[in-house]
Amino acid sequence: MKLVVLGSGTSVPHSKRSSSGYWLETSGGSILLDCSASSIHRIAQEKLDWVNLDAVWISHFHLDHCGGLAPYLFGTKHAPDTQSRTKPLRIFGANGLRKLLEAFDQANNYGLFEQPFPLEIIEVEPLEVFEILPGVEAVALSTPHTEDSNAIHIRDTTGKTFVYSSDTGPTDVLAAFARKVDLLLMECSFFKNKPVKTHLELSEAIHLIRKAEPGRAVLTHLYPEWDNVNFDEEVRKFSPMCEVIEAFDGLRLEI
Ligand SMILES: [Zn+2]
Ligand SMILES: [Zn+2]
Repeated sequence: MKLVVLGSGTSVPHSKRSSSGYWLETSGGSILLDCSASSIHRIAQEKLDWVNLDAVWISHFHLDHCGGLAPYLFGTKHAPDTQSRTKPLRIFGANGLRKLLEAFDQANNYGLFEQPFPLEIIEVEPLEVFEILPGVEAVALSTPHTEDSNAIHIRDTTGKTFVYSSDTGPTDVLAAFARKVDLLLMECSFFKNKPVKTHLELSEAIHLIRKAEPGRAVLTHLYPEWDNVNFDEEVRKFSPMCEVIEAFDGLRLEI
């Protein structure tokens, strides 16, 4: 698998970190993990094949994770590049995904569901194993962030494994869910003294990494307060037991 970070930031406008979006190449095709408004343009900037994107995963319905979905579908409906596409696009997320898209659609009769190619909206339950792409197995895990927020575990035919926490508060269940994965992509919204319970700060993120023992971890969804923090130095203080990488827009990793 291959991961490209499109947006390592949050909903707060930032000059270097755009909002949540991660491109994952798997043995069965490409998956866009979350779809912020900025990430749809970031895909093109990274010269990734947005025309042939196979699947989208929406972790929850905060706008920094799903606000680009309707604009993306507006683009694929009208762009010359997508008119000859025949393969389906599958969009996965929690219950409520279809309702959200319908609400966008009806706001101005965009016709977002009438695409040049088949469009499938698939709502998944936590802990239900599903095939996100041919041969690529996925499972969602409910996280303490919103009622509908989910982490996702992905295994492709190469046997490599990947977990994306998306937004979450601390929960040891997530560490079990991500146990020994090749790459753990985890939120670490705050450095310390976090103002809300439903996100992680560095000590909590490293605690989860130490319990999960992934091959490598990437910390993302970084609020602007991280701008003046020496990431590597602060991470080292907690002895995470594996390589912990600070996400940035454009980071590319082989899994
Ligand atoms: Zn977020
Ligand atoms: Zn959120």
